[in-house]
Parts: sequence; structure tokens; C-alpha cells
Amino acid sequence: MRLPTRHLLGIENLHPRDISALLDLAESYALLNRSGKTRRDVLRGRTLINLFFEDSTRTRTSFELAGKRLGADVINMSVSTSSVSKGETLLDTAATLNAMNCDLLVVRHKASGAPALLAQKVDAAVINAGDGMHEHPTQALLDALTIRRHKGTLEGLTIAICGDIAHSRVARSNILLLIAMGSQVRVVGPPTLIPSGIEQFGVSVFHDMREGLRDADIVMALRLQTERMSGGMIPSAREFFTFYGLDAAKLAVAKPDALVMHPGPMNRGVEIDSQVADDMTRSVIREQVEMGVAVRMAVLDVLARTALRNA
Ligand code: ASP
Repeated sequence: MRLPTRHLLGIENLHPRDISALLDLAESYALLNRSGKTRRDVLRGRTLINLFFEDSTRTRTSFELAGKRLGADVINMSVSTSSVSKGETLLDTAATLNAMNCDLLVVRHKASGAPALLAQKVDAAVINAGDGMHEHPTQALLDALTIRRHKGTLEGLTIAICGDIAHSRVARSNILLLIAMGSQVRVVGPPTLIPSGIEQFGVSVFHDMREGLRDADIVMALRLQTERMSGGMIPSAREFFTFYGLDAAKLAVAKPDALVMHPGPMNRGVEIDSQVADDMTRSVIREQVEMGVAVRMAVLDVLARTALRNA
């Protein structure tokens, strides 16, 4: 398969056909990873640079693992944002990376649009690994793969995304992907954490967890992104947990086989209760991490092929 674009900057530019094809390829990588036959040479001779201007555990490690499993030379660059202004850093970095002839550039930045800017300045294929409050496309793809493996389809499912919708790039990418694939998406949270006008994306808005979770197939809890909040948007973490923390009592109104998801890192006792997070009959949080590697292998594979076609 090949993508219509050279870069993966967001879900926004993907057709449902591309999403399904990426998920199919990722599924085959998931099976290979489980079989233990992890080494491939699809990216042999290619250089992948992980350029993270923001902290990351899962995303960076899984891109590294994905690149190595496909045979690429992988370089991790951690960049401190504190000393240099954003514009200068990005443009200087772009020039440096271009000189190194890197093929695949994975970028995380606190400014929305930073990967798109870099994509205009470098020859490499750029993959957005999370830009501010904008998008996190590989997270949405790995969430979709996890759901599809359990439910067989994304079409017709009711998916409740709960908590800090306003500051979440995970919510935004998931909404775009799930709506495109025919799911019914609900967002559930306090009015201060739900952007006004979000209904335009085709989601329904709930401020009460018991209403929002009723008969849901999937319940996705999100971290409170306090690093992106200016001013007090919630009275306290304790109060947030009382009203919006995902616990067994609130989950009880969802379908009996509803899955619990969280992109990580989790704040236990804030947006999710440990009992629910660790309930292996409902929680697929670890599988999300596993699918993250498979999805990133698929994305790197496809972008490398797309670049070859355009070469
Ligand atoms: N890891 C996800 C992200 O980078 C979610 C989070 O940080 O809460 O957006």
C-alpha cells in the first residue's frame, strides 16, 4: 500500500481506505511480533531520527523499536526547548537534519503545527508523534487497531472519550479517525474541558459520566493535561476524580463487555481508578502499548515505500 502524502502529519488527511489498509498492515506486524520473528529488512540502509522536544515514554521507545525491527539505523535526539526560541530551534534543526540525509523524521513538539513546518523544510518523510493540542495520529491508529482486534470492526460502535478533551491531541486524532470509520463518538467531561463547537466534528457532548457511558462499547480515559492548562480548569484532582474519574461504579452503566482504554501516562486516582485500569477482563491498556509498536512499523514501512515511489 502507499499513502497519498509523503508525511503523516495527522489523521485529517487520511481516507478511510488508507486507515483500513494501515490497520491491516499493522495487524500483520502485530502477528509477526507475537511470533517472535521480529527482524525485517524493509528499512535497511535507511536512517530514522526521533526528534522529541517534549517528554515521551511509549511513543519514542516504540518508534525506536519499530525502526530497529525493520532494519533502520535509529538515532534519538532529545531537544531541550527551554533555551532557544521555537522558530529558531526548528529551522536550525531542520537544516542540520537535512544535511544528515535522514529518511524518516519522527517529531514531537509542544507547538501545534511544528511537524508540518518541518515537513516543508526537510527532504525526509515527517511523522507527527504529537504536536501540542493538535494531533497524535499514530496513537489514534493504535487505538483503532486495539478496538478492531476485540470488536472486529469500528463501524457502529459507541465510544466514550472522557476527561480533558480540550487539551488532548489524542482525543482530536481519535475523533477524526473514529468518525471517519463509522463509530459514534461521545465526549464526556466538565464544560471547562470540552471545547465549544466540538459537535461540528460529529460527536455528542455529555457532562455526566453515567449518561455518557451508558451502553458504550469502549470507554477511553484521558490524562488531565495540566502542563497545557492556564488557570484553574478544575477545582481539584480529588473533585475531578469524584465526578469524572473512571471507576467500577461509573463503568457499570457501559455494556458488560465494554473495553477500558487509556493512552498513558495514567494518573491513577485522578482520571482512572487502579481497580479498573488493572482489571485484565476489561482493560486493554497494555495491548494498546503492544499495538503501538505494530502500528509504527506499518507507518514507517508505508512511508518508506511512498518515498521510494516519489524518488
Ligand atoms: N501520551 C499521550 C500524548 O502524548 C497522552 C498524554 O500525554 O496524556 O498526547
